[in-house]
Amino acid sequence: ATMPPLLSAIANAGRHGVLVKSAVVMERLGQVDAVALDKTGTLTEGIPRVTDIRPLPGSGVDEEALLILAAAAEHPSEHPLARAVVDAARTRGLTVPDMRDFTSAPGIGVTATVQGARITVGAPARLLGGGDRDSGGGGRRDADSASASDRAAVLVAEWEDGGRTAVVVLRDGLPVGVLGVADRLRPDAAATVAALATLTGGAPMLLTGDNPRAAARLAGEAGIGDVRAGLLPQDKVSAVREQERAGRRVLVIGDGVNDAPALAAAHTGIAMGRAGSDLALETADAVVVRDELATVPTVVRLSRAARRLVV
Ligand code: ADP
Ligand code: MG
Repeated sequence: ATMPPLLSAIANAGRHGVLVKSAVVMERLGQVDAVALDKTGTLTEGIPRVTDIRPLPGSGVDEEALLILAAAAEHPSEHPLARAVVDAARTRGLTVPDMRDFTSAPGIGVTATVQGARITVGAPARLLGGGDRDSGGGGRRDADSASASDRAAVLVAEWEDGGRTAVVVLRDGLPVGVLGVADRLRPDAAATVAALATLTGGAPMLLTGDNPRAAARLAGEAGIGDVRAGLLPQDKVSAVREQERAGRRVLVIGDGVNDAPALAAAHTGIAMGRAGSDLALETADAVVVRDELATVPTVVRLSRAARRLVV
């Protein structure tokens, strides 16, 4: 028997390095008319590196101590930023101490007990809490916290203007330092965005949990004008649903635990396989196994060609 067109297309997608999980998915891929991409690990290489280590004055930690605390807390996390922090400690030959009671909040950061203190590492916008800083109390601890937060915020703003991602480190709720992390756009990002725009007849959108400045700068390099930043996993879902309510069939491309709900909500979800989280790979309808974003428009074309042959 000759192979049915959708199965041939699945085999073909496999040769291009994309695992399409079923014939139904192979068919749906060609129906998409809107695209939403995640930033870190999807539009970027997802191999961010720590470029700056800044303990805050009065925090009692130096560069090495700050990095050690952050690396210990980040150790169990599979987030690309966590790997950057752990690698930075290893590269400097530092011994990362054990941690316990690890918890992670997707899109926000991680917390663990290290050397008897609760260490939190994550998004400045969520953790430097501009909101409750002025409210009530007025004790010494609040004043310390406010000035440390202000110092941290200055560094954060400076780095984010330069397109870097800042990660803040808190010890027992007080900021003790800031780490600067830089990631690179994938070499095929701009070409992929352009190809997807042509294929779907609409401008792809960027959905990211990262800060608006770093997001806008990267989106600009990739040729994306529609940027939604500072999103929690559920906000990514809302952005997808909003498009679908407007009658569009959205292709979501992501890699993180934080992308899993949006991958599930999408008409079709594709996960980046190399550095992708297990949850994203399991939730997605297809997985880019070979680490090339440009294979995504290729499989959309394969789907459309196959569907023309299906009666
Ligand atoms: P994206 O949507 O671009 O992939 P995420 O939603 O995964 O980004 O993360 C959003 C932000 O949350 C990050 O830019 C970072 O500030 C913070 N964050 C999330 N997880 C971690 C972590 N493990 N360590 C440090 N920061 C984190
Ligand atoms: Mg990501």
